[in-house]
Amino acid sequence: MYEPLHLYIDGRFIGTEGRVTEDVIDPATGGVLARLPHASPADLDAAVDAAARAFAGWRATSAYDRAAVLHKAATLIRERADAIARTLTMEQGKVFAEAKGEVLVSADIFDWNAEEARRSYGRVIPGRVAGVHQTVVIEPVGATALFTPWNFPALTPARKLAAALAAGCTAVLKAAEETPGTAVALVRALHDAGVPAGVVNLVFGVPAQVSAQLIARPEIRKISFTGSTPVGKHLLRLAADGVKRTTMELGGNAPVVVCADADLDLAVKSCVAAKFRNAGQVCISPSRFFVHESLFEPFVHSFAAQAAALKIGHGLEDGVQMGPLAHARRIDEMERLLDDAQAHGGKIVTGGRRIQNAGYFFQPTVVTGADDKARLWTHEIFGPIAPIAPFGELDEVLGRSNGVEAGLAAYAFTRDVHTSRRLMEGLEAGMVGLNNLAVSTPETPFGGVKESGHGQEGGAEGLHAYQNIKFVSEA
Ligand code: NAD
Repeated sequence: MYEPLHLYIDGRFIGTEGRVTEDVIDPATGGVLARLPHASPADLDAAVDAAARAFAGWRATSAYDRAAVLHKAATLIRERADAIARTLTMEQGKVFAEAKGEVLVSADIFDWNAEEARRSYGRVIPGRVAGVHQTVVIEPVGATALFTPWNFPALTPARKLAAALAAGCTAVLKAAEETPGTAVALVRALHDAGVPAGVVNLVFGVPAQVSAQLIARPEIRKISFTGSTPVGKHLLRLAADGVKRTTMELGGNAPVVVCADADLDLAVKSCVAAKFRNAGQVCISPSRFFVHESLFEPFVHSFAAQAAALKIGHGLEDGVQMGPLAHARRIDEMERLLDDAQAHGGKIVTGGRRIQNAGYFFQPTVVTGADDKARLWTHEIFGPIAPIAPFGELDEVLGRSNGVEAGLAAYAFTRDVHTSRRLMEGLEAGMVGLNNLAVSTPETPFGGVKESGHGQEGGAEGLHAYQNIKFVSEA
């Protein structure tokens, strides 16, 4: 069921022969799924050479023709969605229904960018002097290096590849070594759809070595990274040497503000579903829950009951609602966070333990009473732990919501239009969800402020991230 893994360089799939390999693990069983070939330094150079060579032909291909290839890839991804989703669940752990949803949205992302690139208009600006024509021309930035994480192995490569290719750029993608099979399947769909050799390249390896080598190459004109803030800062420093454009989708730490006038049932149901999606390993996952003191007890009671009732297991089993964490590092981090929370007065209302089996399972967990210094409040949790605290006044909760370095997503539940507006204006985040936690679609901009990064993916902004602006004055 899990296909052999390959690099993809200059239109050719390359297997493990003669290369360093690493094991890919099923996080639900701890078993080895396959061996992943690492790109050698020569492979990495070949991938950049191929992307640089292919750029001239791909940028000259009309947006219409590029769109046709991307639409074909989207169709193939949809046709193969069950198989790709099974691969995704096996290597990443999320439940099959979530994996399939992610694969189908990834197909939509290719379609949407294909269409948007056909509407990528420049403009004419009236000249100050008679006979002078002033034009703004839009051009692709060039060959790009794209780095994607393990938590959304289909969606994050799709966002970057679809926008880059639609804009006329070429790409070297380094997808996450933990979840390579999904990236290989996406690239196979692009290959089968007729993407010319060199336009897309896929490599794996030791992340720090791969990124250092790729970013140092002058032909690479744009870096897009999704992952943790410390790694993002490191890549920004590397990119600075070549003054390369960057898009940084880094960690979040999303607050949820549940006001006194909120629809309590809607708030609890939406928060439980979003918090435990992908076992909490989502950068826009609701992370810090601030509930008005008048609703605090019923919210905690209902949230904990629904969390405790979730069915945990292998993501391919019927009825399972939450799978394992993606790797052993996350389990260690959950245990450290809970020890620290308890040292800061926290009480575990439900959960709190690793589930003792071969995989990396952790109980859905609710913590109350941890003081503001607990790392659960200050650091991104990226796992199935929900800290909940009461608040009194809106100004106070806005201060607590904004008092972290991250600013990716923020959420609030209220039925009052004035409160809603104050929250929408006051929350420091790139995306705000009001009575609704769905803030990511192919057609809407997705990105953060503060240490959550800069630049957007999705929407027209996601395409602009791969385009240069050229102003032409013609007398
Ligand atoms: P990590 O920082 O070790 O790795 C995060 C991702 O960056 C991985 O995919 C990894 O392969 C890649 N990476 C690491 N070093 C790199 C380098 N020098 N060059 C290029 N890529 C590099 O963290 P982790 O233990 O895998 O995950 C833990 C944290 O990462 C989480 O707490 C979360 O904050 C963050 N994270 C965020 C997202 C997101 O969607 N923004 C996704 C995954 C992980």
